[in-house]
Amino acid sequence: MKVVLQNLTKVFPSRDKKSGKEVVAVNDFTFEIPDGKLIGLLGPSGCGKSTTLYMISGLQKPTGGKIFFGEDDVTELTTENRGIGLVFQNYALYPHMTVKQNILFPLQNLKGEDKMSKAEMLERAHWAAKLVQIDDLMDRKPSEMSGGQQQRVAIARALVKMPRVLLLDEPLSNLDARLRLQTREEIRRIQRETGITTIFVTHDQEEAMSISDMIVVMKLGVVQQTGKPQEVYDNPTNLFVAKFLGTPPINVFAGSVKGGKLYLGKDAVLNVPGVADQEVHVGIRPEGFELDPNGPMICNLNSIEVMGRDSSVVSTHDASQNPVVRSIIDADNKVEEGAKTVRFSLKPHKVFLFHKETEERIYFEVK
Ligand code: ATP
Repeated sequence: MKVVLQNLTKVFPSRDKKSGKEVVAVNDFTFEIPDGKLIGLLGPSGCGKSTTLYMISGLQKPTGGKIFFGEDDVTELTTENRGIGLVFQNYALYPHMTVKQNILFPLQNLKGEDKMSKAEMLERAHWAAKLVQIDDLMDRKPSEMSGGQQQRVAIARALVKMPRVLLLDEPLSNLDARLRLQTREEIRRIQRETGITTIFVTHDQEEAMSISDMIVVMKLGVVQQTGKPQEVYDNPTNLFVAKFLGTPPINVFAGSVKGGKLYLGKDAVLNVPGVADQEVHVGIRPEGFELDPNGPMICNLNSIEVMGRDSSVVSTHDASQNPVVRSIIDADNKVEEGAKTVRFSLKPHKVFLFHKETEERIYFEVK
């Protein structure tokens, strides 16, 4: 089921009498989510991702715009009538019910022609439990399960009605690091197996990048960029997106362009053909550096952390906007012991220029 958001907007009235300022939580969001895909809605706290999800679910009413599931305009439909499955961060299971009763609950409330026989309900509950691999825990109460298992029950309960769209709001936030990793893979598998169009809200870029078919990066209610995770990472449209994606994060420098060359301080570090003379923000991905004894970029060496296959070179540079510059290089490339400085050449496709004021991307030809 494709999901279409058309000029979706949500404005909250002001709570602050003094300023009288309303909050534009989501601003003119237009996007088509293709059928059967997993979409990661991503952005820092307060960017409007939960509000977007709540509008899709029907829990919140848009101030403007429309929502379609396939060709159906669902904007005015109640949550119950949209055919969605919802999973929240805090599981929200009924504590006095067993796993089986929790999963059966949504089916027992079906009315009219959707009503199911007891045998059908049990079969469906078993299907959902098996899908999330908790079918051997059906008689437990939520308090007798781990956080990861409880979240699986919540997912099974959301799936049991075979929703048209599955909505997940920070579903992994309450899990420890190991379980988070495992459960996100599980969500990916379940999504693939069921083919249900799924929208997943998270502030964790790594999480979104690792399992999404497409990501939507938001800031202050405004969509910044949409696309396949790798495409967005490789081709950020502005400085915000460049900084938001990537671990370790992108290195940002104050630079200037003169005569088609990019300068960091007094050193010309890269040819940037076609860019007018100006001051710029320069983003260099950690993997964009190459150790080179004659390289044009000279950094003061702090330390080298070997991480198996790769080494992380930690250095400083006067033009850097961060306290340190982090570069990832192949562990076979050795930095001379006791060296005070380290020299790099730069991989042009890993270097991004941004306008000094607007912070929008300035493109140059990569040969
Ligand atoms: P988080 O990750 O912290 O949940 P978010 O990206 O999901 O953040 P939203 O919860 O969608 O952000 O909030 C977007 C903006 O709307 C924020 O500025 C928030 O303070 C505001 N907001 C959200 N709900 C309400 C409300 N019921 N009344 C007034 N303002 C609200």
